[in-house]
Amino acid sequence: MKLLEDRIRRDGTVREGNVLKVDRFLNHQMDIELFQEIGREFKRRFAGEEINKILTIEASGIGIACVAAEFFHVPVVFAKKSKTKNIAGDVYTAQVESFTHGGVYEIIVSKEFLGEGDKVLLIDDFLANGKALEGLAKLIKDSGAELVGAGVVIEKGFQRGGEAIRRMGIRLESLAIVESMDCGTGEIIFRPQ
Ligand code: 5GP
Repeated sequence: MKLLEDRIRRDGTVREGNVLKVDRFLNHQMDIELFQEIGREFKRRFAGEEINKILTIEASGIGIACVAAEFFHVPVVFAKKSKTKNIAGDVYTAQVESFTHGGVYEIIVSKEFLGEGDKVLLIDDFLANGKALEGLAKLIKDSGAELVGAGVVIEKGFQRGGEAIRRMGIRLESLAIVESMDCGTGEIIFRPQ
């Protein structure tokens, strides 16, 4: 998606440790007009698919998922990051290894909001090692819902997540795929799509 690639080149900064900072427009300050174009593009790519729910993960997936949901006319459910061990039987849970913060956290979704008959599209801001998407996919599997596909705004193609998710047989649509980036020069190269 050229508009997005141009914006990443203009306003993104490359940090050490393979971190791309895009908080001027994507995950801190949010450019809602850009989000509209992102939502429209997700809808275009998943046109023809039956989807009745979008699932994302807090916090930075929520804004993107909500704007996308306006194009799909479906509700958004976000997985909560839980600090306390959840032993109650009324939630689905998965463990997720954090790329940005290190360590492992638990994500939960109430059984009330995900279950058999649901056809779910996953949405997130970044795909790095794929742990967040894998955790969300596990919640869907445990719930008996159907995973239609996953849409991410930025995939870092030089990390293992994209390959891992595609190998799981999940249809993955990434709006921009960073092939390489250099924190010294600030250069970002995108994979042609
Ligand atoms: P994964 O689980 O695929 O390793 O990482 C995905 C999660 O880590 C995303 O939800 C995102 O919040 C965060 N993340 C991964 N890489 C980056 C990055 O380069 N920049 C930012 N801002 N967040 C990232």
